[in-house]
This record gives sequence, C-alpha cells and structure tokens, in this order.
Amino acid sequence: METVYLIFALLFGMTIGSFLNVVAWRVPRGESIIRPGSRCTSCGKEISWYDNIPVLSWFILRGRCRSCGERFSFRYAAVELVTGLLFAAIFMKYGLTWLFLSNTIFISLLVCVVLTDIDHWIILDSVSLGGIVLGLGFSLVPGGVGFLPSLITAAVAFSIFLLIRIVSKLILKRKPGYTIAPEGHEDEADEFQGGMGWGDIKLAGMMGAFLGPSSTAVALFIGFLLGAFTGITVILAGRNRRLPVPFGPFLALGAAVAVFAGKAIWHLYLRIGLNL
Ligand SMILES: [Zn+2]
Repeated sequence: METVYLIFALLFGMTIGSFLNVVAWRVPRGESIIRPGSRCTSCGKEISWYDNIPVLSWFILRGRCRSCGERFSFRYAAVELVTGLLFAAIFMKYGLTWLFLSNTIFISLLVCVVLTDIDHWIILDSVSLGGIVLGLGFSLVPGGVGFLPSLITAAVAFSIFLLIRIVSKLILKRKPGYTIAPEGHEDEADEFQGGMGWGDIKLAGMMGAFLGPSSTAVALFIGFLLGAFTGITVILAGRNRRLPVPFGPFLALGAAVAVFAGKAIWHLYLRIGLNL
C-alpha cells in the first residue's frame, strides 16, 4: 500500500510540476493560468491532453511540438520530474500527514520562485506573500512549527534581509552605477543597485513562516553559502562582478534541504558547537 501511495505522490508531483511550468510562464506575462488551455508558444496550436502528459510526452514527442516541430526546452520535463521526485521524497519522510500537504505546497512555491527568478528576476508576490500566509496557517497543523514561532521567524528573517538591503544600499550609494542591471531590466537599474531585492526579502519571510526557527537558520546558511560560492566561481570564471546573480534559487535550494534535513543539520550543529 505504501508503494501505491509513493507512486501516487510521484505522479501527483509531476502534474503539479506541469502546472508550475504554466504559472511561471504565464503569470509574469500577465496571462491567465486557467484559460486558454496549453498551447504551443510558437504556432499557437492547442496541445491535446495526450501530448501534455508530464515528463512522458516530452520524451514521446522528443521535445518537439507535434504540429510545427518547434523545440520545447527539456527544462519543462525536468521541472515536472524534479517536482515529482520531491513530492515522493516528502511522502517518504512525512507519510500521509498534514506535514505532507504543508511541505508539498512549500516545495511547489519554491519551484515557482526558482523559475521566475531565473527567467524574469522576479519572485511573484502571490507566491512569497501568499506563502507567508500559508506558512502561518500550516504552522497550526499537528507536528507544525506552531503559530508564534512561525510568525516570529517570518518577521526576523524578513527583517534581517531588509537590513541587508538597507546596509548594502548605503554602501553602494557611494559607488553609483556599481551594479549593472541584467539585460532587459535596464530601466530598473535602481532596484538592482541594492544587492538584496524585495522579492528575496519577502521570500525570506515565507521561509521563516513555513520552516520555523532552527530549519530557517539552516536554510538561510545554506542559501548564503551556495550564493557566495557561486558568486565567487562566476567571477573567477571571468564574469563581470558588477552583474548581479539572482539569489532566490539559492535560498530555495537551502529551504528544500531544510525541508528534509533542517532539524538533523541543526542538531548536528548544536552537538559540534557544544563539544567545542
Ligand atoms: Zn507548435
């Protein structure tokens, strides 16, 4: 029976992944996520249900539109597969509990963060602010982090990121034009001048609301570590250091690790710390 549930979690996650692809494509473009049905973005032909099966259809059609032959990025199938695997892993860790529901919703929001931040340098308010509300709500379920810890962690994480923004803005103020806005975002140069975007600040709040204090600390630590490591790597690889790197995906990755191992890493950290 467990295996049946596990397969169901995988397939359910892949379907949600397919929906997240639609959300990440349409919402930043101001389109409805309900109507019209899925279409080829090249020829506009509606994609029938049998060509829209998560992961499978991409391989059957070899990543091409049945009608015009336009290539569909493998990323669509990858997002569906990864979301499915994450749902299955969450089921293995939390079983069929409220925490399964809460963590699959959290992971889905994080997938959306990664996609829109990479594509458009934005984290949707409906995701981050909506996520704060959902995180606070799910803190009350059996095994949840509890309302007060959820609320306080959200507020603290939000404030830390806001402080980073204020401080980095003050520092960079003395170096006008230090940060170059990414291509297509030249008119928002000022927003990129601050280092920490509003989207990241709200995302930190959402992570705090869902994860509670110890797992949020782990998630933020991993996020900053990965972000710094990547930043240094791309600079060493010869990239212009004035070009910003989207931070949302690193925070989301840290949060995903915390979903599975936040408590374990926190306790490991405490044990090492107390032995010193
Ligand atoms: Zn087409």
